[in-house]
Amino acid sequence: MINASLKELSAALAGKQLSSVELTTLFLDRIGKLNPALNAFITLDAEKSLSMAREADHRLARGEGGPLTGIPVAHKDIFCAEGWLTTCGSKMLSNFVSPYDATVIERFKAAGTVTLGKTNMDEFAMGSSNETSFYGPVRNPWDTAAVPGGSSGGSAAAVSARLTPAATGTDTGGSIRQPAALCGLTGLKPTYGVVSRYGMIAFASSLDQAGPMAKSAEDCALLLNAMAGFDARDSTSLERPTEDYTREINAHGSTRDGDKPLAGLRIGLPKEFFAEGLSADVAQAVEDAIAAYRKLGAITVDISLPNMKLSVPAYYVIAPAEASSNLSRFDGVRYGWRAPQYGDLTDMYCKSRAQGFGAEVKRRILIGTYVLSHGYYDAYYLQAQRIRRLIAQDFVAAFRQCDLIMGPTSPSVAFDLGDKAGDPVQMYLSDIYTIAVNLAGLPGMSIPCGTGARGRPVGLQIIGDYFGEARMLNAAHQYQLATDWHRRAPAL
Ligand code: GLN
Repeated sequence: MINASLKELSAALAGKQLSSVELTTLFLDRIGKLNPALNAFITLDAEKSLSMAREADHRLARGEGGPLTGIPVAHKDIFCAEGWLTTCGSKMLSNFVSPYDATVIERFKAAGTVTLGKTNMDEFAMGSSNETSFYGPVRNPWDTAAVPGGSSGGSAAAVSARLTPAATGTDTGGSIRQPAALCGLTGLKPTYGVVSRYGMIAFASSLDQAGPMAKSAEDCALLLNAMAGFDARDSTSLERPTEDYTREINAHGSTRDGDKPLAGLRIGLPKEFFAEGLSADVAQAVEDAIAAYRKLGAITVDISLPNMKLSVPAYYVIAPAEASSNLSRFDGVRYGWRAPQYGDLTDMYCKSRAQGFGAEVKRRILIGTYVLSHGYYDAYYLQAQRIRRLIAQDFVAAFRQCDLIMGPTSPSVAFDLGDKAGDPVQMYLSDIYTIAVNLAGLPGMSIPCGTGARGRPVGLQIIGDYFGEARMLNAAHQYQLATDWHRRAPAL
């Protein structure tokens, strides 16, 4: 059961082979056994989970279940969930029990899923290794000496260790795709505006986007069906007709033997993705995956994204600028951490924020405040916005030549805990292949495509044009029909 796909779980639940309570208990027991070593979950509440499971069983008994009813899902601790501690990985919110549900949580509830717990993450989603969490680092289930990636590292480790069938993540600069790559999972960041940000604690609002993390593209498509949709409570939510993200997968299901399922698909290979900085083991696995795509009928086209090299510097102006503004709400007054001892009001603000935030969050607030201040706004912030536009235009030009873009997700396999924690620039470069996608607002995903140094997983990144999720998911699915990387699980 722990390796079953969502479709298989759904069929087992509908066929009464097992109940949601049994399934939830199975995963809670596994969490009890394995989580102490992995630290993937911040909050568990078996009573709450089991009561949701009982409710799902009633729905199933009444014949009112949907494709996800009764299936346990773990949520990144960035999503406000009513009655659940919602910490965002920070001491600042270590006492915050959310009084309401984020839209994503609401939608999963409506679909009948069971909340299995809240997963660990880098503090306020700032990081690439899960080492900035107030709740301690998460370990990579493939090798506990290694980081799981970040910031959705708890979700990634939980799915990879089969502590949950699926999880949610958020991706501001790579935080779904990079941990998915480092833990051997399939993870998808949708087009900006497809999934509502309401109730998702804001880091950099113009970049943040939630998405699914699971074992396969087909599972991600089902999860995205539950997550996506217009929401009037998020002003950047897009009002578009509802899509079925499994439609291309299902349409290709009937391909006759011998037919090439991706015949004619044009895959763009940006030369900037295969240049200096990419480790040899990752390059090899990605090249093998691209060869597999050619066998599936795809053709490859050499392309260029000339402004890609500016994406990390532009991101580290824009994201901190937005973060410095978003995080000003944590002032010790209304909720969250308040210093136990202080003099006047200003002192209370200063002490609460000094005590509540960790070092990386403070670094971002300082940078953000600096680049937005008088005299520097034009020099840094406006310049970064111009670069952002150029990067988006690079992709528009690229998608005239190809249907999907492929390359590595991360420049290396998972690194060891502590390796980059003292060097922010090295840490920031972990997202060198993912950040441009957020700056442009495009959809992107990572799928497992091999192993590199010390048997650690390698991820293939697939980037789609705006609203290209269904096509991207089918391209991933066809690869997963032909290969078995996504089926491999760490020995635990
Ligand atoms: N690693 C990047 C950062 O630290 C991206 C994080 C994210 O996508 N949330 O900002």
